Amino acid sequence: MPLVPLKQVLDEANKGSYGVGAYNVNNMEQIQALMQGAAETRTPLILQASRGALEYTKMVYLKHLILAAVEDNPDLPVVCHLDHGPNLEVVKQAIALGFTSVMIDGSIDYAQEDEKGAHPPRSFKENIRVTKEACDYAHPLGVSVEGELGTLGGIEDETQAASTQLTNPDQVEQFVSETGVDALAVAIGTSHGAHKFKEAPKLALDLIPKIQERAPETTLVMHGSSSVPQELVKQINAYGGTLEKAMGVPMDQIQAAIKLGIRKINVDTDGRLAFTGGIRQYLVQNPKVFDQRKYLGQGRDAIYQVMKQKMIDFGSAGHAGDYEPKTLEDAKAWYK
Ligand SMILES: [Zn+2]
Repeated sequence: MPLVPLKQVLDEANKGSYGVGAYNVNNMEQIQALMQGAAETRTPLILQASRGALEYTKMVYLKHLILAAVEDNPDLPVVCHLDHGPNLEVVKQAIALGFTSVMIDGSIDYAQEDEKGAHPPRSFKENIRVTKEACDYAHPLGVSVEGELGTLGGIEDETQAASTQLTNPDQVEQFVSETGVDALAVAIGTSHGAHKFKEAPKLALDLIPKIQERAPETTLVMHGSSSVPQELVKQINAYGGTLEKAMGVPMDQIQAAIKLGIRKINVDTDGRLAFTGGIRQYLVQNPKVFDQRKYLGQGRDAIYQVMKQKMIDFGSAGHAGDYEPKTLEDAKAWYK
């Protein structure tokens, strides 16, 4: 099975009222862990890479790792998605590599940053302009596009907004109709990174139906949705780490958001925590071992455990065989 466009996977999730995890990947162990979890739970999934991941892997290595994942799992629908594309140039690079979906993050201006590395928000008009530009490039090639309206707090790779702003439902209809995005990332109180909240957050769940009714053809995306499991933070700290008390988005809040219409759930931090915890524990407990397959294998297994459970909790488990996957060639017809 070739890589599948995001639009199909999310439209199907919409029909089935479940969420699909979009998991950030940078290396082979992460990809293998996710594919094992997806194969065992029969789940469609989204593998996504940020600009940082593309740089780390010199792009071509990541491309072939994802192609290997698809070759190894020919009966699972897999999307290859660019996370937080900062500009059209990076969007073009990802599409040239074979990505079937891209995010253009027009909510902040990556070309400008303050002394802390945070990027200023773009105006609504500018966001529409850069997002439409990406859609105009990607859609004739059959590639799906995700845009973002509103800005999240926290830090993830180079994504850090100088100020945060919940999505304004009154802007949604114009944004979606003028840009043509297939998926819309919304800001409803989630946050990037491990240090999201001091106490359990309450998401602005009431915004979801208000946004959805203004963009019925568009599927909704939630970024910054790692749960930051406390046992992983404790494990890292028990084996030499010094993470501060951290809190994420509790699974029951994510499930409530899925119930209301969120279809793509971005998870990066929890994979980092699991991998780091597994490796730290192994190295401390086995100080004489220097075979990297042993400790990377332990990290891989930790990611597998955490992500397999998410596939079940998000509701995507069991849906891999629900539909005949489309290709980018098929998808071109959707945008004519
Ligand atoms: Zn994000």
